Amino acid sequence: KEKQAVNTHQADDLASFLAGVERRNPGEPEFLQAVQEVAMHIIPYIGDKPVYKELMILERMTEPDRIVTFRVVWEDDQGNVRVNRGFRVQQNNAIGPYKGGIRFHPSVNQSVLKFLAFEQVFKNSLTGLPLGGGKGGADFNPKGKSDREVMRFCQAFMTELSKHIGPDTDVPAGDIGVGAREVGYMFGQYKRLLNRFEGVLTGKALEFGGSRIRTEATGYGCVYMMEEMLAHHGESIEGRSCVVSGSGNVATFCAEKLIELGARVLTLSDSGGFIYDAEGITRDKLQWVMELKNKRRGRIEEYVGEFGGEFFANERPWGVPCELAFPCATQNEIEAADAEKLIANNCRGIAEGANMPATPEAIHVIQARNSLLHAPSKAANAGGVAVSGLEMSQNSLRMQWTREEVDQHLRKIIRAIHDQCVEFGTAADGHIDYFKGANIAGFNKVASAMIAYGV
Ligand code: GLU
Repeated sequence: KEKQAVNTHQADDLASFLAGVERRNPGEPEFLQAVQEVAMHIIPYIGDKPVYKELMILERMTEPDRIVTFRVVWEDDQGNVRVNRGFRVQQNNAIGPYKGGIRFHPSVNQSVLKFLAFEQVFKNSLTGLPLGGGKGGADFNPKGKSDREVMRFCQAFMTELSKHIGPDTDVPAGDIGVGAREVGYMFGQYKRLLNRFEGVLTGKALEFGGSRIRTEATGYGCVYMMEEMLAHHGESIEGRSCVVSGSGNVATFCAEKLIELGARVLTLSDSGGFIYDAEGITRDKLQWVMELKNKRRGRIEEYVGEFGGEFFANERPWGVPCELAFPCATQNEIEAADAEKLIANNCRGIAEGANMPATPEAIHVIQARNSLLHAPSKAANAGGVAVSGLEMSQNSLRMQWTREEVDQHLRKIIRAIHDQCVEFGTAADGHIDYFKGANIAGFNKVASAMIAYGV
């Protein structure tokens, strides 16, 4: 009875906390979703530790330090003046400079960037590196734009952003719609404006301070996390059938590592649909996809013309029977019905390469199934920002490490993330809730720093 009373009390606390967040952030469903996913574990965790409540730690964490919103004006190839909205959400710098990517996509708005910045705080803390959390972007659609248009947009975006960032203040990187090309244009503009060559962005090309493995890191890290979860249960990746969504940087390097480890990759996707290759996507086929996406900016549908297999227009790949699933496209790409399909097909593991790819309903369906190993994005895609942190270290050292050195660091970081999830996510019956573990471990370090600083 006593336990029941405590649970009810905690449910009340959670409900009133979330109601407060909703009141302060109207019309921001993605942000609320991300906060709810964290608060459901943190509120019970801090329940018997009054200092967190007295100092309003979780309330303070849900309020960004600041949000900069700005106008981005640029000229298209026809000479028309175009206007977009740019943002930088500086969420929390308790344990290091703000760190997080920049997203260029028409769906970008304040709610999406706040959810990403909030998640980033926990993810970056989990890496064990001194990195705070932030996120930025613009509602600019790079699709169909010429290289010169993208360049002019990046320059205009950085003209304003440069006033708010710095190597010890806020260090942006790429995200959806922002890769090495865009980082190059932005870094060039920063250097032009401030006359400073410094590690203000990560994801740079190797010639001007980039790190080896940075491009591969998010996808590789996602597979390493899956490897860790499986190894912990005495299993491995070799020979297993895998469904991957997306066909950008995260998805393609996730697929590459899976192929290297002897798994069978069956699918890739983009906003037009998914391709299914029953024979498995090989290294050569994947190389072709990378060129298709990076150089020609083509559609995944073209894969079928080149290699055969099937294309399913406007569908996601979750109905394809698989043992391991890697959502590497975007937020909320796995809904409850998709989760049910994965379970019906006896899926063994899900590692989230994208940020928040599962809806709360889908997570609920998955968590009801104890035999499914499910790594949250905070853990499974932390490899990207971890190698960004290593890029910052290399920039400070005025050095560049070898592939082997960076890869070793990355593996160690992901192993440590896995171990923290196990430490804080294991229930009395031995079941590991990786979501809970990641949330609590990520929270602890940031909260301790905030407590140390006082109010
Ligand atoms: N955009 C990536 C993420 O979501 C990487 C951020 C970074 O490297 O700063 O974690």
